[in-house]
Amino acid sequence: MAGRFAHLINDEIRYILLDMDGTLLDRYFDDYFWEHLLPERYAEKNHLTPEEARRDLLERYRKTEGTLQWTDLDYWSSQLKIDIPALKKQTEHLIDVHPHVIPFLTEMRRKQKSVVLVTNAHFKALDIKMRKTRLGPFLDRVVTSGDLGYPKERLEFWGRLAGILGEGYEVYAVLVDDTQAVLRTARTFGIRHLLHKAGASSALPVTRSDEFTSIHLFTELMD
Ligand SMILES: [Mg+2]
Repeated sequence: MAGRFAHLINDEIRYILLDMDGTLLDRYFDDYFWEHLLPERYAEKNHLTPEEARRDLLERYRKTEGTLQWTDLDYWSSQLKIDIPALKKQTEHLIDVHPHVIPFLTEMRRKQKSVVLVTNAHFKALDIKMRKTRLGPFLDRVVTSGDLGYPKERLEFWGRLAGILGEGYEVYAVLVDDTQAVLRTARTFGIRHLLHKAGASSALPVTRSDEFTSIHLFTELMD
């Protein structure tokens, strides 16, 4: 039986735009890293209580939300005086692909869709994750916010993407992302089909969007 949103990926669709963290990959790794492991290291280094360290870091994260700094591992290494890429590498065994992602990507290939990873991830984080998950061969292109100079929360990202995919690409595109702020910007830009990925982290309850159509599993988009 075809998935309930499989019909969205019809002959008119040329581009399948996919977010990485939380959408193709389990966000558990990132949440654990930024909310637990890093605060722990930061507390040790600065002789803070775990609670103080967490509060301090969450405040710093909040200030950089929706900017390129937020995902810039070098920025955090220099701000916190902790080697962030090295720490990420130490925990890379926690990086995992969501269920049904590989069959989904394979089916999109078979249907001759252009599969494009669109991510705010820093190139060093991208590198660690691609090595670990081996998703590279299933993707036609990888476009990062670092490449385009703006995060996905900004209209400029989607505008500049036209320089790569061609003018008017938005009419032929489906975007799947777990961040609603990104989906809102993409909606303003005019991306044809917007799908919210529910269940971004396997450690958290599955919460569907009340603003966008949510998919939980990629089988919902497959024949
Ligand atoms: Mg995401």
